[in-house]
Amino acid sequence: MGKKREEISAQYKWAIEDLYANDDLWEEDYKRVGELAEKIKDFQGTLGESPKRLYEYMEIYIAMSQLFEKVYVYANQKLHENTGNPIYQALAGRAQGLGVLTSESTAFFEPEILGIPNETFESFLKEEELQNYTQYFEEIRRKKEHILSREMEELLAQAGEVCEGASDIFSMFNNADLKFEDVTDEKGNLYMLTHGTYIALLEDNNREVRRQAFEHLYDRYEEYKNSLAAIYQTSVKADVFQAKARKYNSAREMALDGSNIPVSVYDKLIESVHKHLPAMYKYVDLRKKTLELEELHMYDLYVPMVGDVDMKKTFDEAKEIVKEGLAPLGEEYVALLQKGFDEKWIDIYENEGKRSGAYSWGAYGTHPYVLLNYNGTLNHVFTLAHEMGHALHSYFSDENQDYIYAGYKIFVAEVASTVNESLLIHHFISKATDKKEKAYLINHFLEQFRGTLYRQTMFAEFEWKAHEMVEKQESLTPENLCDLYYELNQKYFGEGIVIDKEITMEWSRIPHFYNAFYVYQYATGFSAAIAISKAILAGDEKVREGYFKFLKSGSSRYPIDLLKLCNVDMTTTKPVEDALKVFEELLQEFETLQRTE
Ligand SMILES: [Zn+2]
Repeated sequence: MGKKREEISAQYKWAIEDLYANDDLWEEDYKRVGELAEKIKDFQGTLGESPKRLYEYMEIYIAMSQLFEKVYVYANQKLHENTGNPIYQALAGRAQGLGVLTSESTAFFEPEILGIPNETFESFLKEEELQNYTQYFEEIRRKKEHILSREMEELLAQAGEVCEGASDIFSMFNNADLKFEDVTDEKGNLYMLTHGTYIALLEDNNREVRRQAFEHLYDRYEEYKNSLAAIYQTSVKADVFQAKARKYNSAREMALDGSNIPVSVYDKLIESVHKHLPAMYKYVDLRKKTLELEELHMYDLYVPMVGDVDMKKTFDEAKEIVKEGLAPLGEEYVALLQKGFDEKWIDIYENEGKRSGAYSWGAYGTHPYVLLNYNGTLNHVFTLAHEMGHALHSYFSDENQDYIYAGYKIFVAEVASTVNESLLIHHFISKATDKKEKAYLINHFLEQFRGTLYRQTMFAEFEWKAHEMVEKQESLTPENLCDLYYELNQKYFGEGIVIDKEITMEWSRIPHFYNAFYVYQYATGFSAAIAISKAILAGDEKVREGYFKFLKSGSSRYPIDLLKLCNVDMTTTKPVEDALKVFEELLQEFETLQRTE
């Protein structure tokens, strides 16, 4: 077992006291939020009376939300320090309850705002005191044509719970009921197969382990293919039902409208990736050659092409490397990294009970926080750069925006973190002295392109087609879904790989498919970040300056407009194509390295 939290020196732990010095202060704010939630109810039915009234509502709403955020974040961060601590289990539970209370007390807001006649609202917005809320209100009011009568809205809200049913059933089935057959290697060693171990088993150098993990997993899904298709079809139908009820042309249009993303962005992503499929075919060939396999199978896609390179770094070394790697962003950025390191934004090491993984989080008004479980591997050095990307994005937006515009939208959320990873990997590659080390690093980057750009785009194409089928009254039988999935795999991976029949069941195990039209954002965000980092590395000063504007803008503009600040126009094919050119270059470099070995 690892160390207890008390055994870890304070210099390696985050300065949680910057949120609250003690729990008593937390209690005070907790109480205050409850009072504000009570007070804000008085505004119900009066928002359309005058600009002044609306302004007063916003003042209280912001005070309440901001305070609630701090209360919520503190309770949960304390819990993450040691998830077994009953004191903070209780605080986190209470914070969650408080969240329900605040959203209930403001539930009247949106319908009331939408109910104010256009002319009246426009005259409101001309008032000085509401100037700052223009974008905020536009975000709500631009969806007006898709908001129905009060009665219909009530009905839809109730239907909403039923519509979530498919997702709940899938989640129960997948996480609680489904069990897989163990994997046994030639020596009789047993490996447990679970959702958690699956990818690690696919990365195993022993091909027999990979093959069995792959087959055992999909055989189990195959057994339930009729139920799984019915569950998925119900979910797609629910999406289509809601889009129709809200007068959208398609479920896809409705999903994208949430962040005001035109469907052309989705189309251009798929179009660009299709154009660069030959690069994927080349990657597949290279993989086959590097692994020295006669036939490449679907279960050979995850095993690293280059064996482990010993590149352990202490945390002090990691900090220096990250600063060097991100130097192209400029002195201001590097100085802020240092500030984050010095002022203890980061909770560095693992301890007993600590939440696993890594994240960046925090509350407006206090510096951001980063949780790590740093173990010194290369992956964790990248994690540090990645999470500090999120943290500094938050820092810049918090410093430059009011509370309502400080948070950034999912569509752009992974840009800053990926820009950092991309800059860091270029730095590593340029500095690598040893051929094997270089190949290892390039392999690491190539896998990100495969997993994030190609794979998520294939997912995006799948869910689009599945929704279209339902919109055309076709049914999603297991055969239809498996055929569609087979065709997509053929298209994306080409002829250099055996498309094993098992993979045709992959659609049935992807939890994200129950949150339709979400995954494309991984591919677009990644592409935007690669395009930006490419320009910055090439010394494009305009993009670098634009990127800082982007970092400082939070959600004060729509995501598509924010990226345009960095000369990235996601309604065109250019950013994705630029990113894929980087993939092609890396592929070329990898091939050259392998050839000269
Ligand atoms: Zn991230």
